[in-house]
Amino acid sequence: MSDLSSPNWFTEQCENTGLALSLRIKHKVVEKHSRFQKIEIYETTDFGYLMVIDGCTMVSTRENFLYHEMMAHPALFTHPNPQNVVIIGGGDCGTLREVLKHDSVNAVHQVDIDALVTQMAQTYFPELCERNQDPRAHLIYDDGIEFMHKTLPESLDIIIVDSTDPIGPGEGLFNRAFYTSCLNALRTDGILVQQSESPILHQKLIKEMRQAMLEVGFSDVQTIPFPQPIYPSGYWSCTLARKDGEFGEFRQSDAETFSKQTEYYNEAIHQAGMRLPSFLKKVL
Ligand code: SAM
Repeated sequence: MSDLSSPNWFTEQCENTGLALSLRIKHKVVEKHSRFQKIEIYETTDFGYLMVIDGCTMVSTRENFLYHEMMAHPALFTHPNPQNVVIIGGGDCGTLREVLKHDSVNAVHQVDIDALVTQMAQTYFPELCERNQDPRAHLIYDDGIEFMHKTLPESLDIIIVDSTDPIGPGEGLFNRAFYTSCLNALRTDGILVQQSESPILHQKLIKEMRQAMLEVGFSDVQTIPFPQPIYPSGYWSCTLARKDGEFGEFRQSDAETFSKQTEYYNEAIHQAGMRLPSFLKKVL
């Protein structure tokens, strides 16, 4: 067995949660620095390519479908007729690909601060970028905080915040000012969905996000946990917030038909995802 500190392993070490996650690698393919962050690509022995930003795992070839499907479909199937979608972050284009599977969608603006993430995804994760030429897709390179601040009121159906962790350029995407901009930009049926870290490791963050969303005026919130092998703890979540009304019903039969196009998401996963495990119910 090889030593985890050897160059054969990439390790994300999470000092503040007392946990590390390692993937065995063949080699580091490339390392680039943008104005915003350090982006590395590794070739792993078992998970395909791996993208790492500022030392944190982002995407692997083998299992990214879990995250990208859950960031997109629960929100899109809760909305009665999603047409205008904005993705903040998401530069690897995996969430964009999932959103574009929905025929009701007329336009998706993906706003990532860093063009280099998308350039590297096009090279090493071309399957995630396969719908980038869809005429409904608009790729913008800008700060998502400023973009949402400038967005016309009541102009969007879904906002998906597919960002890095709340440090560095992603920090300002997890606060009341940003949620207020999102609330204003959404139409009445609108839904905000944000990646909300690990339900095991980051309960305080999830609780604070949910409180902040409700405090700025969202009418209901729903956290959905899902498996994610390459993120610390192997267990991740997204949190949805509705501008009006409550979570409960969703377009179940549409989701059932749609599941031919997905690897993980289906109507039963959606239904079960909305029933929080007891430990989370107690702490959120
Ligand atoms: N799935 C990932 C995770 O949860 O670890 C997120 C992947 S995606 C590559 C994250 C993206 O958020 C990065 O491409 C980064 O450039 C972008 N990002 C971070 N802060 C941003 C901001 N303020 N505005 C727009 N994009 C931002």
